[in-house]
Amino acid sequence: MAELKEYTGKATMEKITSLAKRRGFVFQSSEIYGGQRGAWDYGPLGIELKNRIAGTWWKEMTQLHDDIVGLDASILMHPRTWEASGHVENFTDPLVDCKKCKSRFRDDMIPEENMKAKKCPDCGGELTDPRNFNLMFKTHIGAAEDTASVLYLRPETAQGIYVNYKNIIQSNRMKIPFGIAQVGKAFRNEIVTKNFIFRTCEFEQLEMQYFVKPGEDEKWFDEWKNRRWEYYKKLGVKMDHLRWYQHPIDKRAHYAKDAYDIEYLFPMGWSELEGVHNRSDYDLARHAEYSGKDMQYIDQDDNNARYTPYIIETSAGLTRNVLMVLCDAYDEEKVADKGDVASEGSADDWRTVLRFHPSLAPITVAILPLMKKDGLAELAQDIRTELKEDYSTDYDQAGAIGRRYRRQDEAGTPFCVTVDYQSKEDNTVTLRFRDSMEQVRVPRAELAVRLKQEIKAYKRAN
Ligand code: ATP
Repeated sequence: MAELKEYTGKATMEKITSLAKRRGFVFQSSEIYGGQRGAWDYGPLGIELKNRIAGTWWKEMTQLHDDIVGLDASILMHPRTWEASGHVENFTDPLVDCKKCKSRFRDDMIPEENMKAKKCPDCGGELTDPRNFNLMFKTHIGAAEDTASVLYLRPETAQGIYVNYKNIIQSNRMKIPFGIAQVGKAFRNEIVTKNFIFRTCEFEQLEMQYFVKPGEDEKWFDEWKNRRWEYYKKLGVKMDHLRWYQHPIDKRAHYAKDAYDIEYLFPMGWSELEGVHNRSDYDLARHAEYSGKDMQYIDQDDNNARYTPYIIETSAGLTRNVLMVLCDAYDEEKVADKGDVASEGSADDWRTVLRFHPSLAPITVAILPLMKKDGLAELAQDIRTELKEDYSTDYDQAGAIGRRYRRQDEAGTPFCVTVDYQSKEDNTVTLRFRDSMEQVRVPRAELAVRLKQEIKAYKRAN
């Protein structure tokens, strides 16, 4: 009975982290060696979830927008890129150390009274003066580790898009306004990595850079803010957990003319999920200056006018989106009165359920034979084979049926198909819905189509 006390109906970061590990969403990197700070590994369910989130974003950006194309640029770029972009000079965090307990902080994360008194918020020891620390990971190419061989692991995917923008105009006949979308890894030597996969040193970004005519940038900035908001709505995210935050002028990144974040109410509080930035012509103008190449656009629809396009950027963390989707989906529900309790144990009065949108769920449908014997297992396997082509499936024949439902609820599987004795008689199965726990009898022949309809029509109840 002791474990019942843990249920409060609320998500906490501890619960999410523990569920993620227990069910194979996310593991600590190099755990057998004590773990590697700022790095995580995505397990069988985690990689499916991450891929689906990336796929949904990619479809939204490319398939649903005729004026956006994709790119997959390399992580290693010419080091001049990062001089031009301003990252060598400006991509720094102010770092403060405690002389006593040796804790290290980003100075904007220390309460003001501690900064004034120069006292460590952890132990009260004396703090050092802030000093700037560059967040880029440095490495070397080739055998000689000298200054001529320095390379950086990209701290954002955006620059790979900027240096290719002319290639894409020429090869794909793109006309302004148009966008380039990219999903890929980025690396930052973050001083403080905490809150699970929220802030890590190695992470993935979903970035789209939209090239516009100067003077039209503010209109497009508003338009993209709007589109990104609608996107999360379509994804079924709890909208009262999302809000806008505008960066004050003196806190904006070196390239930003205007900058808003979409913040999500994570268990540790409101935090950035995605940035929408007006990067002005800063990046292209700097690349023109540093490379000596002409980065101007010739506008054939405007008497061959030449100009350096402005760029509106939508930049979301893919791995941070995984965390958001996990937190958003997480629910604990008392189900004792709902006739769906498992046969063993009182802990089953409660269930943990991940209410993923069915199009994001790692497993779409689980097939469960009521018994292993009397040909039910074979029949269930047969149905699984049939559904496999179109859906990601799981098969589970171990333990009481209520327990198996719980396991699928916890993995976020929206549909279970139960095969029983009646199935052998009349070729019908039970379709069970994760959210409502309702069960309906469906002819086997209609199952695939029914699932498709249910996914399309899905609306989250709470
Ligand atoms: P922060 O202020 O939290 O350090 P940022 O403003 O520097 O973030 P951007 O440079 O705007 O972040 O990056 C765009 C997106 O990339 C962020 O909204 C976030 O989702 C993701 N992101 C940035 N840094 C990290 C990180 N260290 N770990 C995971 N995701 C990150």
